[in-house]
Formats: sequence, structure tokens, C-alpha cells
Amino acid sequence: MQEKLSLAKETKKILQDNGIRLNKNLGQNYLIDDFKRKKIINYGNLGKDDVVLEIGPGIGTLTIELAKRSKKVIAIEQDTTIFNILKDRLAKEGITNVELINGDAVKVDFPKFNKIVSNLPYQISSPISFKFLEYDFDTAILMYQKEFADRMNGKVGTKQYSRLSAMLYYKADIEFLTKVSPESFIPSPKVDSAVIKLTPKELDKSISKEDYKIYSKVVKALFQHKNKKARNALIDSRKEVGFKDKKELKQILNQAEDENPELKTLLLERTVKLSPEDIMKIAIILKNNL
Ligand code: SAH
Repeated sequence: MQEKLSLAKETKKILQDNGIRLNKNLGQNYLIDDFKRKKIINYGNLGKDDVVLEIGPGIGTLTIELAKRSKKVIAIEQDTTIFNILKDRLAKEGITNVELINGDAVKVDFPKFNKIVSNLPYQISSPISFKFLEYDFDTAILMYQKEFADRMNGKVGTKQYSRLSAMLYYKADIEFLTKVSPESFIPSPKVDSAVIKLTPKELDKSISKEDYKIYSKVVKALFQHKNKKARNALIDSRKEVGFKDKKELKQILNQAEDENPELKTLLLERTVKLSPEDIMKIAIILKNNL
């Protein structure tokens, strides 16, 4: 309790001393719960060889602890005022193994790293997660809105099953680690948060990069109409799979269904009932036509 108070007090003092009012539009919800901070740092399982990427370090609540336990931290903060506060703070604490970058993490190239630990700005959850997956790294410990974390791991047929779940299915393993309640932050967000562990995985050997590209398009089209039958969803979102003309796509589907009865069965299901494997089958069957 004592320590929790001290992180909360310390955070409020730094913000007050610098005349900062946190900006909700930038997803500025600063962690003030020392118990959860310790947990997050421990999940990182850091050693002196690790180079840690942190997105949205804020005033350094995680950054300083990460720096003490790793070889180096690369921290990318968009808010220039906050960036400068953190820069001064690191200098004062004598911490020299943090590379601070002032920029939009969605846009800047990441220097080389092997782990990620971040309490993310929630408004960039989706683009930043897909960007992470373009890089080669070992593991990521990430805090998201709980609802988003649930969708990352959404199971077929459930409310949480989404484009995000289907896209991540082939790219990463997602493990739920702990829930974090609104009071653990200032200002308190309206929703619960969750910490997850994300471990990138290689595509199955049977699936080529090209297959995954088509799969991405089919997933995008299908999940625009999650509760429709897949066939209708594809036709309604034909733009996503490269078609302007309804008739033309219908013809192609008819022909493909004639050649492949399994396709017909799959396309009669509602999107939400199709597993990622089912959707991959559809993508591969249609690959030469889409
Ligand atoms: N890690 C800190 C702060 C989390 S709040 C803590 O746990 O207390 C998220 C931080 O991300 C804020 O400081 C915000 O300014 C920053 N941020 C918001 N959008 C960003 C973006 N696109 N790129 C980099 N940083 C961003």
C-alpha cells in the first residue's frame, strides 16, 4: 500500500511540477500502481542482453525499471513536452542506456530490439500491434484495453471473434496475464485494462506469404459483415477482394463452388462461425481468382 501511494504521489508531483494536464486524445493514462508495475516488469523476464522497445514511455514509470534490468531501452514518445520531462528525469537519475525518440511510433522505423514492454496508448492499439509483427523479436508484454485484448484472442463463434483475432491467429500466440483496473491509472480510464504476452510465430509451412496476403483480404471482407453468410459478405465487400462488379464475382464464386463442393458449404456459413482454417481454405481455393 505504502509503495502504491508513493508511485501515485511521485507521478502526480512530476506532472504538477511541470504544469502538465494529461491529454486523453493521446491515450495518456499513467500507471500509478506499483504492484502492477512490478508484475509487468517481471513478466518481461529481462536480462542484460535484452534490448527493449517501449512505446509511449510517458514520464518513465516503466522505462526506468526496464533500463535497470536490460542492456538498453528504446523508448518512443510522441508528446514533446512529456519527452523532455523524461529526458531530464533520466539524466537526473544517471540512466544512460535509454535511447529516447520523439515521434509517432506508428510512423517511425524501430531500431533493432528483441523484446517489447509497453503500457500502450490505446488509440493506436491496432496499427501498432500489426506494426510489431513486421519485426523479428522474441516476446512482447503489452497493456491494452481489456476489450481489445479479448478480441486479440477471440475464439470462433464468440462475440470477441473478430478481424483482429483472425489476423493474429497465424502470426502470434496471445496469452492473457492479468487484469488492471481503472484506479491503477491517472486519469482513470472508463474501462478495464489487461496485460498480455504476445509471442510471434512463423506461418505454417503449408501456408505461403502469398496465401496469407489473400487471407488478409478475405478476412477484411468477411468481417465487415460478421453475421452474414460468408458468400454474401464477400459479395457485399467485393471491393476488398478486388471486384467492382457484383455479377462478375458471383459468376466466379458459382464456378469455383461447382469445382469444389467444400467451398460451397463454407460460403454458406456465417462469418463468425468460420475458423481461421476455414477462411484460409476459402482464400486458397479462390487464390487464382481474387
Ligand atoms: N508508459 C507510461 C505512459 C502510458 S500512456 C505509463 O505506463 O505510465 C501512453 C503514452 O503514449 C503517453 O505518454 C502518450 O503521450 C504516448 N503516445 C500517444 N500516442 C503515441 C504515439 N503515436 N507514438 C508514441 N507515443 C504516443
